[in-house]
Parts: sequence; structure tokens; C-alpha cells
Amino acid sequence: MKTVIIILGAARSGSTLLAKAIGGHSACFGLGEINRFNEEIENPDTHCGCGEKLNLCSFWSQILQELNLDFTSTTRQSDNFNVGIFNQLTKKKYLHKLINTVVFKSVYTNKLVEREIENTFTLYNKIFEKTNVDVLVDSTKGLLRAIVLASRSDKNINFKFIQLTRDGRGVLNSNLKTSYSIKHKDGSIVNYKGHDKTKNPSKLIRAWLYINLRNFVLLKLFYKKKTLFVNYEQFTGEPESNLRKIYDFLQLEYEPEVLDLSKHEQHILGGNASRINAKKITKQDDKWQTDLDAAILRSFNRKAGWFNRLAGYK
Ligand SMILES: [Zn+2]
Repeated sequence: MKTVIIILGAARSGSTLLAKAIGGHSACFGLGEINRFNEEIENPDTHCGCGEKLNLCSFWSQILQELNLDFTSTTRQSDNFNVGIFNQLTKKKYLHKLINTVVFKSVYTNKLVEREIENTFTLYNKIFEKTNVDVLVDSTKGLLRAIVLASRSDKNINFKFIQLTRDGRGVLNSNLKTSYSIKHKDGSIVNYKGHDKTKNPSKLIRAWLYINLRNFVLLKLFYKKKTLFVNYEQFTGEPESNLRKIYDFLQLEYEPEVLDLSKHEQHILGGNASRINAKKITKQDDKWQTDLDAAILRSFNRKAGWFNRLAGYK
């Protein structure tokens, strides 16, 4: 059976880099944040992980062609191939339906998101067919979406989860940065604005705490066998031993080439600039220690320090 591994966790926890590293294996393919598929293909300025403009990338062009889709929104309804299950779920306030799925492992069905679920599986299956890999790496991160997809045993795809946790102070520091740059295939270096809508430190701290706490509780209680817990700082500090653990979990043999992120061309969609820029996995340099304002750090310690310590951060 084919496997989709979904990386879960808060934004800015390093999921794009991790997806790229796992996707470097010959039996894996790094998808990236595939829930953004619709928005990404409609955006003429966005880039694929291969460094090419998305609408010029040969891999995604073929996928779109075979799904009878195209890049121009003028010829498509914007929700033509919506795979944003989670957006729909929260909008419609139908989250309570998930309780049966989480606790009693029932198949999640909901008319309001059925089409998005079907689209997601269509996309997975098309990419499995095209790439002939055993594992797709989906770094979409939303836990509720992952639970919905994993409940669909009728679809013959095995789901596994990685809960990726990063020091909350590092996440906060990364969130407060406003821009990043990408070196593109044609050699040009372009600066982009970060896509965070909020720069309110209190909100960012609360969001980090909420997502991590919720994920730990739900995954430890109900999805323990399906989940591997990965610490971002350990992964970047000792990439080989951590990747070995991950491939064990996926029942794949370790391949040393995965440490060289530029070895294989990848077509990661969405996520941050590391999908294009990262050539190797480098140790996390704890920039928050020098960059983070003392008052913001105090606020973090007051609100979320207890959980950060519980997660092993001193
Ligand atoms: Zn590409």
C-alpha cells in the first residue's frame, strides 16, 4: 500500500526543510503544502521547489494537463480544484463531527468538504502514478485535515504523521521577520514579503502554544502508532540519525544521498524559501538569543515557557 506522510506542527517549525530532506529519498516525493495547490497554481508569480516559475515547471504542468486543469484562473472557477479541506471545515464550524473520527476511528464524511477530500485523493493518486514512489511527503501541517484524510480507509492509502516541534522562541523570532529572499534558476535574487498576516507577538505565542499542546495531546492519546515525534533542533543538529529514524518509521532503507538536498531535483509546492534555497541541512543557530527583544522574550516565558521546557528546551 502507498503511504502519505503528513508533517504536522506550527508554522515556521521547519516543515519545508524536513519535507525536502525526506523527499530526497528515491522512494519518496516531497509534495510540500499541497493544501495550497489551488492558490499556488493560480498565482503567476509563485515558484516551484525546482526553482522554476510554477507555470513553467514541467512536472506540475504535466500533472495539471492530466487532471484537465490549467494555470489561468480566467478559464477556471477559483474553486475548481479546491483541496483546502481545513479552510472549509473551520469556516463551516463542523469540527464537532471530528470527535467520532478521533475517538471511535469512524470514517469522516461531511458533504461540505467531500469534494475537497476527493480532490485531495485524486491529486495524491495522480502523483503516485506519475512518480512511482512509495511515499508522498505532505507538509500541509493542519492536524484536523490530516485526521480527516487518515480516516478514509476506503481510499487505500496508509497515512502516517510526523509531529515536528521547534523551540517556541525560535518560531516566534522567525515569525517576526518580515521578508526572505530566493535565488532563482535564472540567477536572479528576489526579495519576498513573508505571508504572515499578524505580527502581534502575543497572538503568535498563543498560536504556537495552542497548536503544539493540542497536537501533543491528540496524537499521544489517539494516534501514537501512526506518529513519529521529531524535534527540529535535533534534526538539524544530527540530520543523519534523525533521518534514519524517519526512514525506519516509513519502512524504507536509509540512503546517504538524502543529506545532500541538491542531489535530486524536487518540485515542492508552497512552504518557505528553503524549498528552493536549502542545499544542505545546517545546524540551527539559535538566532532568537540575539534577535528577540527582551520584553517579548519575557512575555513568551510567562505565557508558554512551561510548555517549551516540557518539550525539552532549556
Ligand atoms: Zn518544479
